[in-house]
Amino acid sequence: MTLPLWFDPAEILIGGHWRAAPERLEVENPSDGKTIAEIARGSRADIDAAVAAAQGALEGEWGALAAVDRGRVLMRMSALVTEHAEALATLEALDVGKPLKQARADVVALARYLEFYSGAADKVMGETIPFQPGYTAYTLREPHGVTGHIVPWNYPMQIIGRSVGAALAMGNAAVLKPAEEASLTALAFARIATEAGLPPGALNIVPGLGEEVGAGLSSHPGVNHISFTGSVAVGQLIQAAAAANAVPVTLELGGKSPQIVFADADLDRALPFLVNAGIQNAGQTCSAASRILVQRPVCDAVLARMAEAYRGFTAGPALADRDLGPLISARQKQVVQGYLRLAADLEIAATGQIAPDAPETGHYVAPVLIGGGHAAHRLAQEEIFGPAQIVIPFDDEDEAVAIANGTEYGLVAAVWSENGARCLRMAKRLRAGQVFLNNYGAGGGVELPFGGTGKSGHGREKGFEALYGFSALKTVAAWHG
Ligand code: NAD
Repeated sequence: MTLPLWFDPAEILIGGHWRAAPERLEVENPSDGKTIAEIARGSRADIDAAVAAAQGALEGEWGALAAVDRGRVLMRMSALVTEHAEALATLEALDVGKPLKQARADVVALARYLEFYSGAADKVMGETIPFQPGYTAYTLREPHGVTGHIVPWNYPMQIIGRSVGAALAMGNAAVLKPAEEASLTALAFARIATEAGLPPGALNIVPGLGEEVGAGLSSHPGVNHISFTGSVAVGQLIQAAAAANAVPVTLELGGKSPQIVFADADLDRALPFLVNAGIQNAGQTCSAASRILVQRPVCDAVLARMAEAYRGFTAGPALADRDLGPLISARQKQVVQGYLRLAADLEIAATGQIAPDAPETGHYVAPVLIGGGHAAHRLAQEEIFGPAQIVIPFDDEDEAVAIANGTEYGLVAAVWSENGARCLRMAKRLRAGQVFLNNYGAGGGVELPFGGTGKSGHGREKGFEALYGFSALKTVAAWHG
C-alpha cells in the first residue's frame, strides 16, 4: 500500500527549516520485510546545528512566550494529531508492525499527552519559604534549557508525547532523535508541531543511527538535560556521556515485570490483563508483564485458562489487525527465538499461531506460554522483548515478594487479590516504579508518574512529576530588612 505521507520523510527539521539530508537510511515494513521509505541519516554536524537552533529559540520567540501560550501551542498540536489520527496510526502500524488497533490507541495517547501538558504548562509553580525575619524567600521552576530526547522504536508516538510534550510545556527547547527502525511518526509529529505554530527551533528532529546521532546528542556540551528510553546497555552509555558534561538524565529502561495472582483473586477479571500484557505490541513493551506469579492452589487453573487464550492468539500483518503483529526486525526475531530455545527444560503450556497470510519475509513469532517456571531460570530473569510469558508458582506473600523483587529490574508490578489489606501490604513491599492493584496499566493513565528502580532506570516521566524533571529549581532569598 502507499504510505499516507503528506511530507518528505527524508528531510530533517532544524531551526524551523526542513531540509534534505545527503545520506539516507531505508525504512523496513516488519510485516513483509519490504522497504517502504527512506529517512535521513543525520550527522553529528546536524546535531551541532540542531542544538544551536534550540539555544536560539530559547533566546528568541519561544523563550519569550508566556506559559499559557506554550500551552495553547500544545493544545493545537493535540487537535492536529487527532485530525491526522488515521494517517498517523497507519504509518505507525506499517513502520513498527503493530496491529492497527494498537497504533490507533497510541495516537489517542499522543493527543492526550499533549492535551494534559497543554493544560499543565501554566500550573507549575514555585513556593514561598518561611525564613528568617527580614527576608522573603521563594523558589522558581525554570526550564533546563536544551533537552535531548532519544527514543526507541516500540512506542514512538507515546514516548515522544510524554517526553517532548512535558519538556515543551516547561519551556525547554527540544532536540529529538527517533529510533532508526521507526522514525516516520516522529517526523509526522514534527510536521504537526510546525503546522500548529510552534516557534522555530523549539523542536528540532534529527533521525539517524544511535552510535552517530544518538551519541552525538547525548555527549553534546550544549545539551542541558537528556531523556532516554531504551535498553539498559545504551542507557549506561548515555548516563556516562551526560556525566562528562554533568547534566541530569532520565533513564526509562527495560523490565521483567510480574503480575502476582493470589488464590483469592477474581480470575475472570484478571485473565485478559494477564495475557494481554504478554502479547501487546508482540511483547516488545518495557512494562510487559513477562512473569506471572501464581499461588499454588490456583496455579494449574490459571495456567490452563491462560493456555486456552494463547491457543486463540494469531500473529499477522499489522494492517490485518490481528492479536499481534511481527517483531520489529529479523535481528529481534533471532534474539527472541534464541530465548525461546531456553524453554526446552520447562513446559510449553501453549502456543498461538502465525496467520496463513503472514508473508514469509515478515518477522513473525507465534506467542508462547511457558509453565513450570522457577525464579532463577534465565527466562524468569532476562527481558525477552517478544511474545512470551513464564508462569511461576509461589506459596505465600513472602515468597511472592522474594520472587517478584528478585531480578535486577523494577519497573512495574501488579497484585491480584480480593483481600484489600494484602494488596496494600504487597504494594509497599514490591520494588517497582508503579504497582497496580487488581488491574494492569490503568489504561495508560497519562496522569500517573512512570519510571523504574534498579536497572529499569531513574527519573519519572508522565503526570505532573515529569514537569518537575524537566525543570530546574531556583531559590531566591531577598533581604529587605
Ligand atoms: P536501544 O537502546 O537499542 O535504542 C534506543 C534509542 O537509543 C534509539 O533511538 C537508538 O538509536 C539510540 N541509541 C543506540 N545506541 C546509542 C548510543 N551509543 N548513543 C546514543 N543513542 C543510542 O533500545 P531499543 O532496542 O530500541 O528498545 C528496546 C529497549 O527499550 C528495551 O529494553 C525496552 O525495555 C526499553 N524501553 C523502555 C521503556 C520505558 O519506558 N522504561 C519504554 C520502551 C522501551
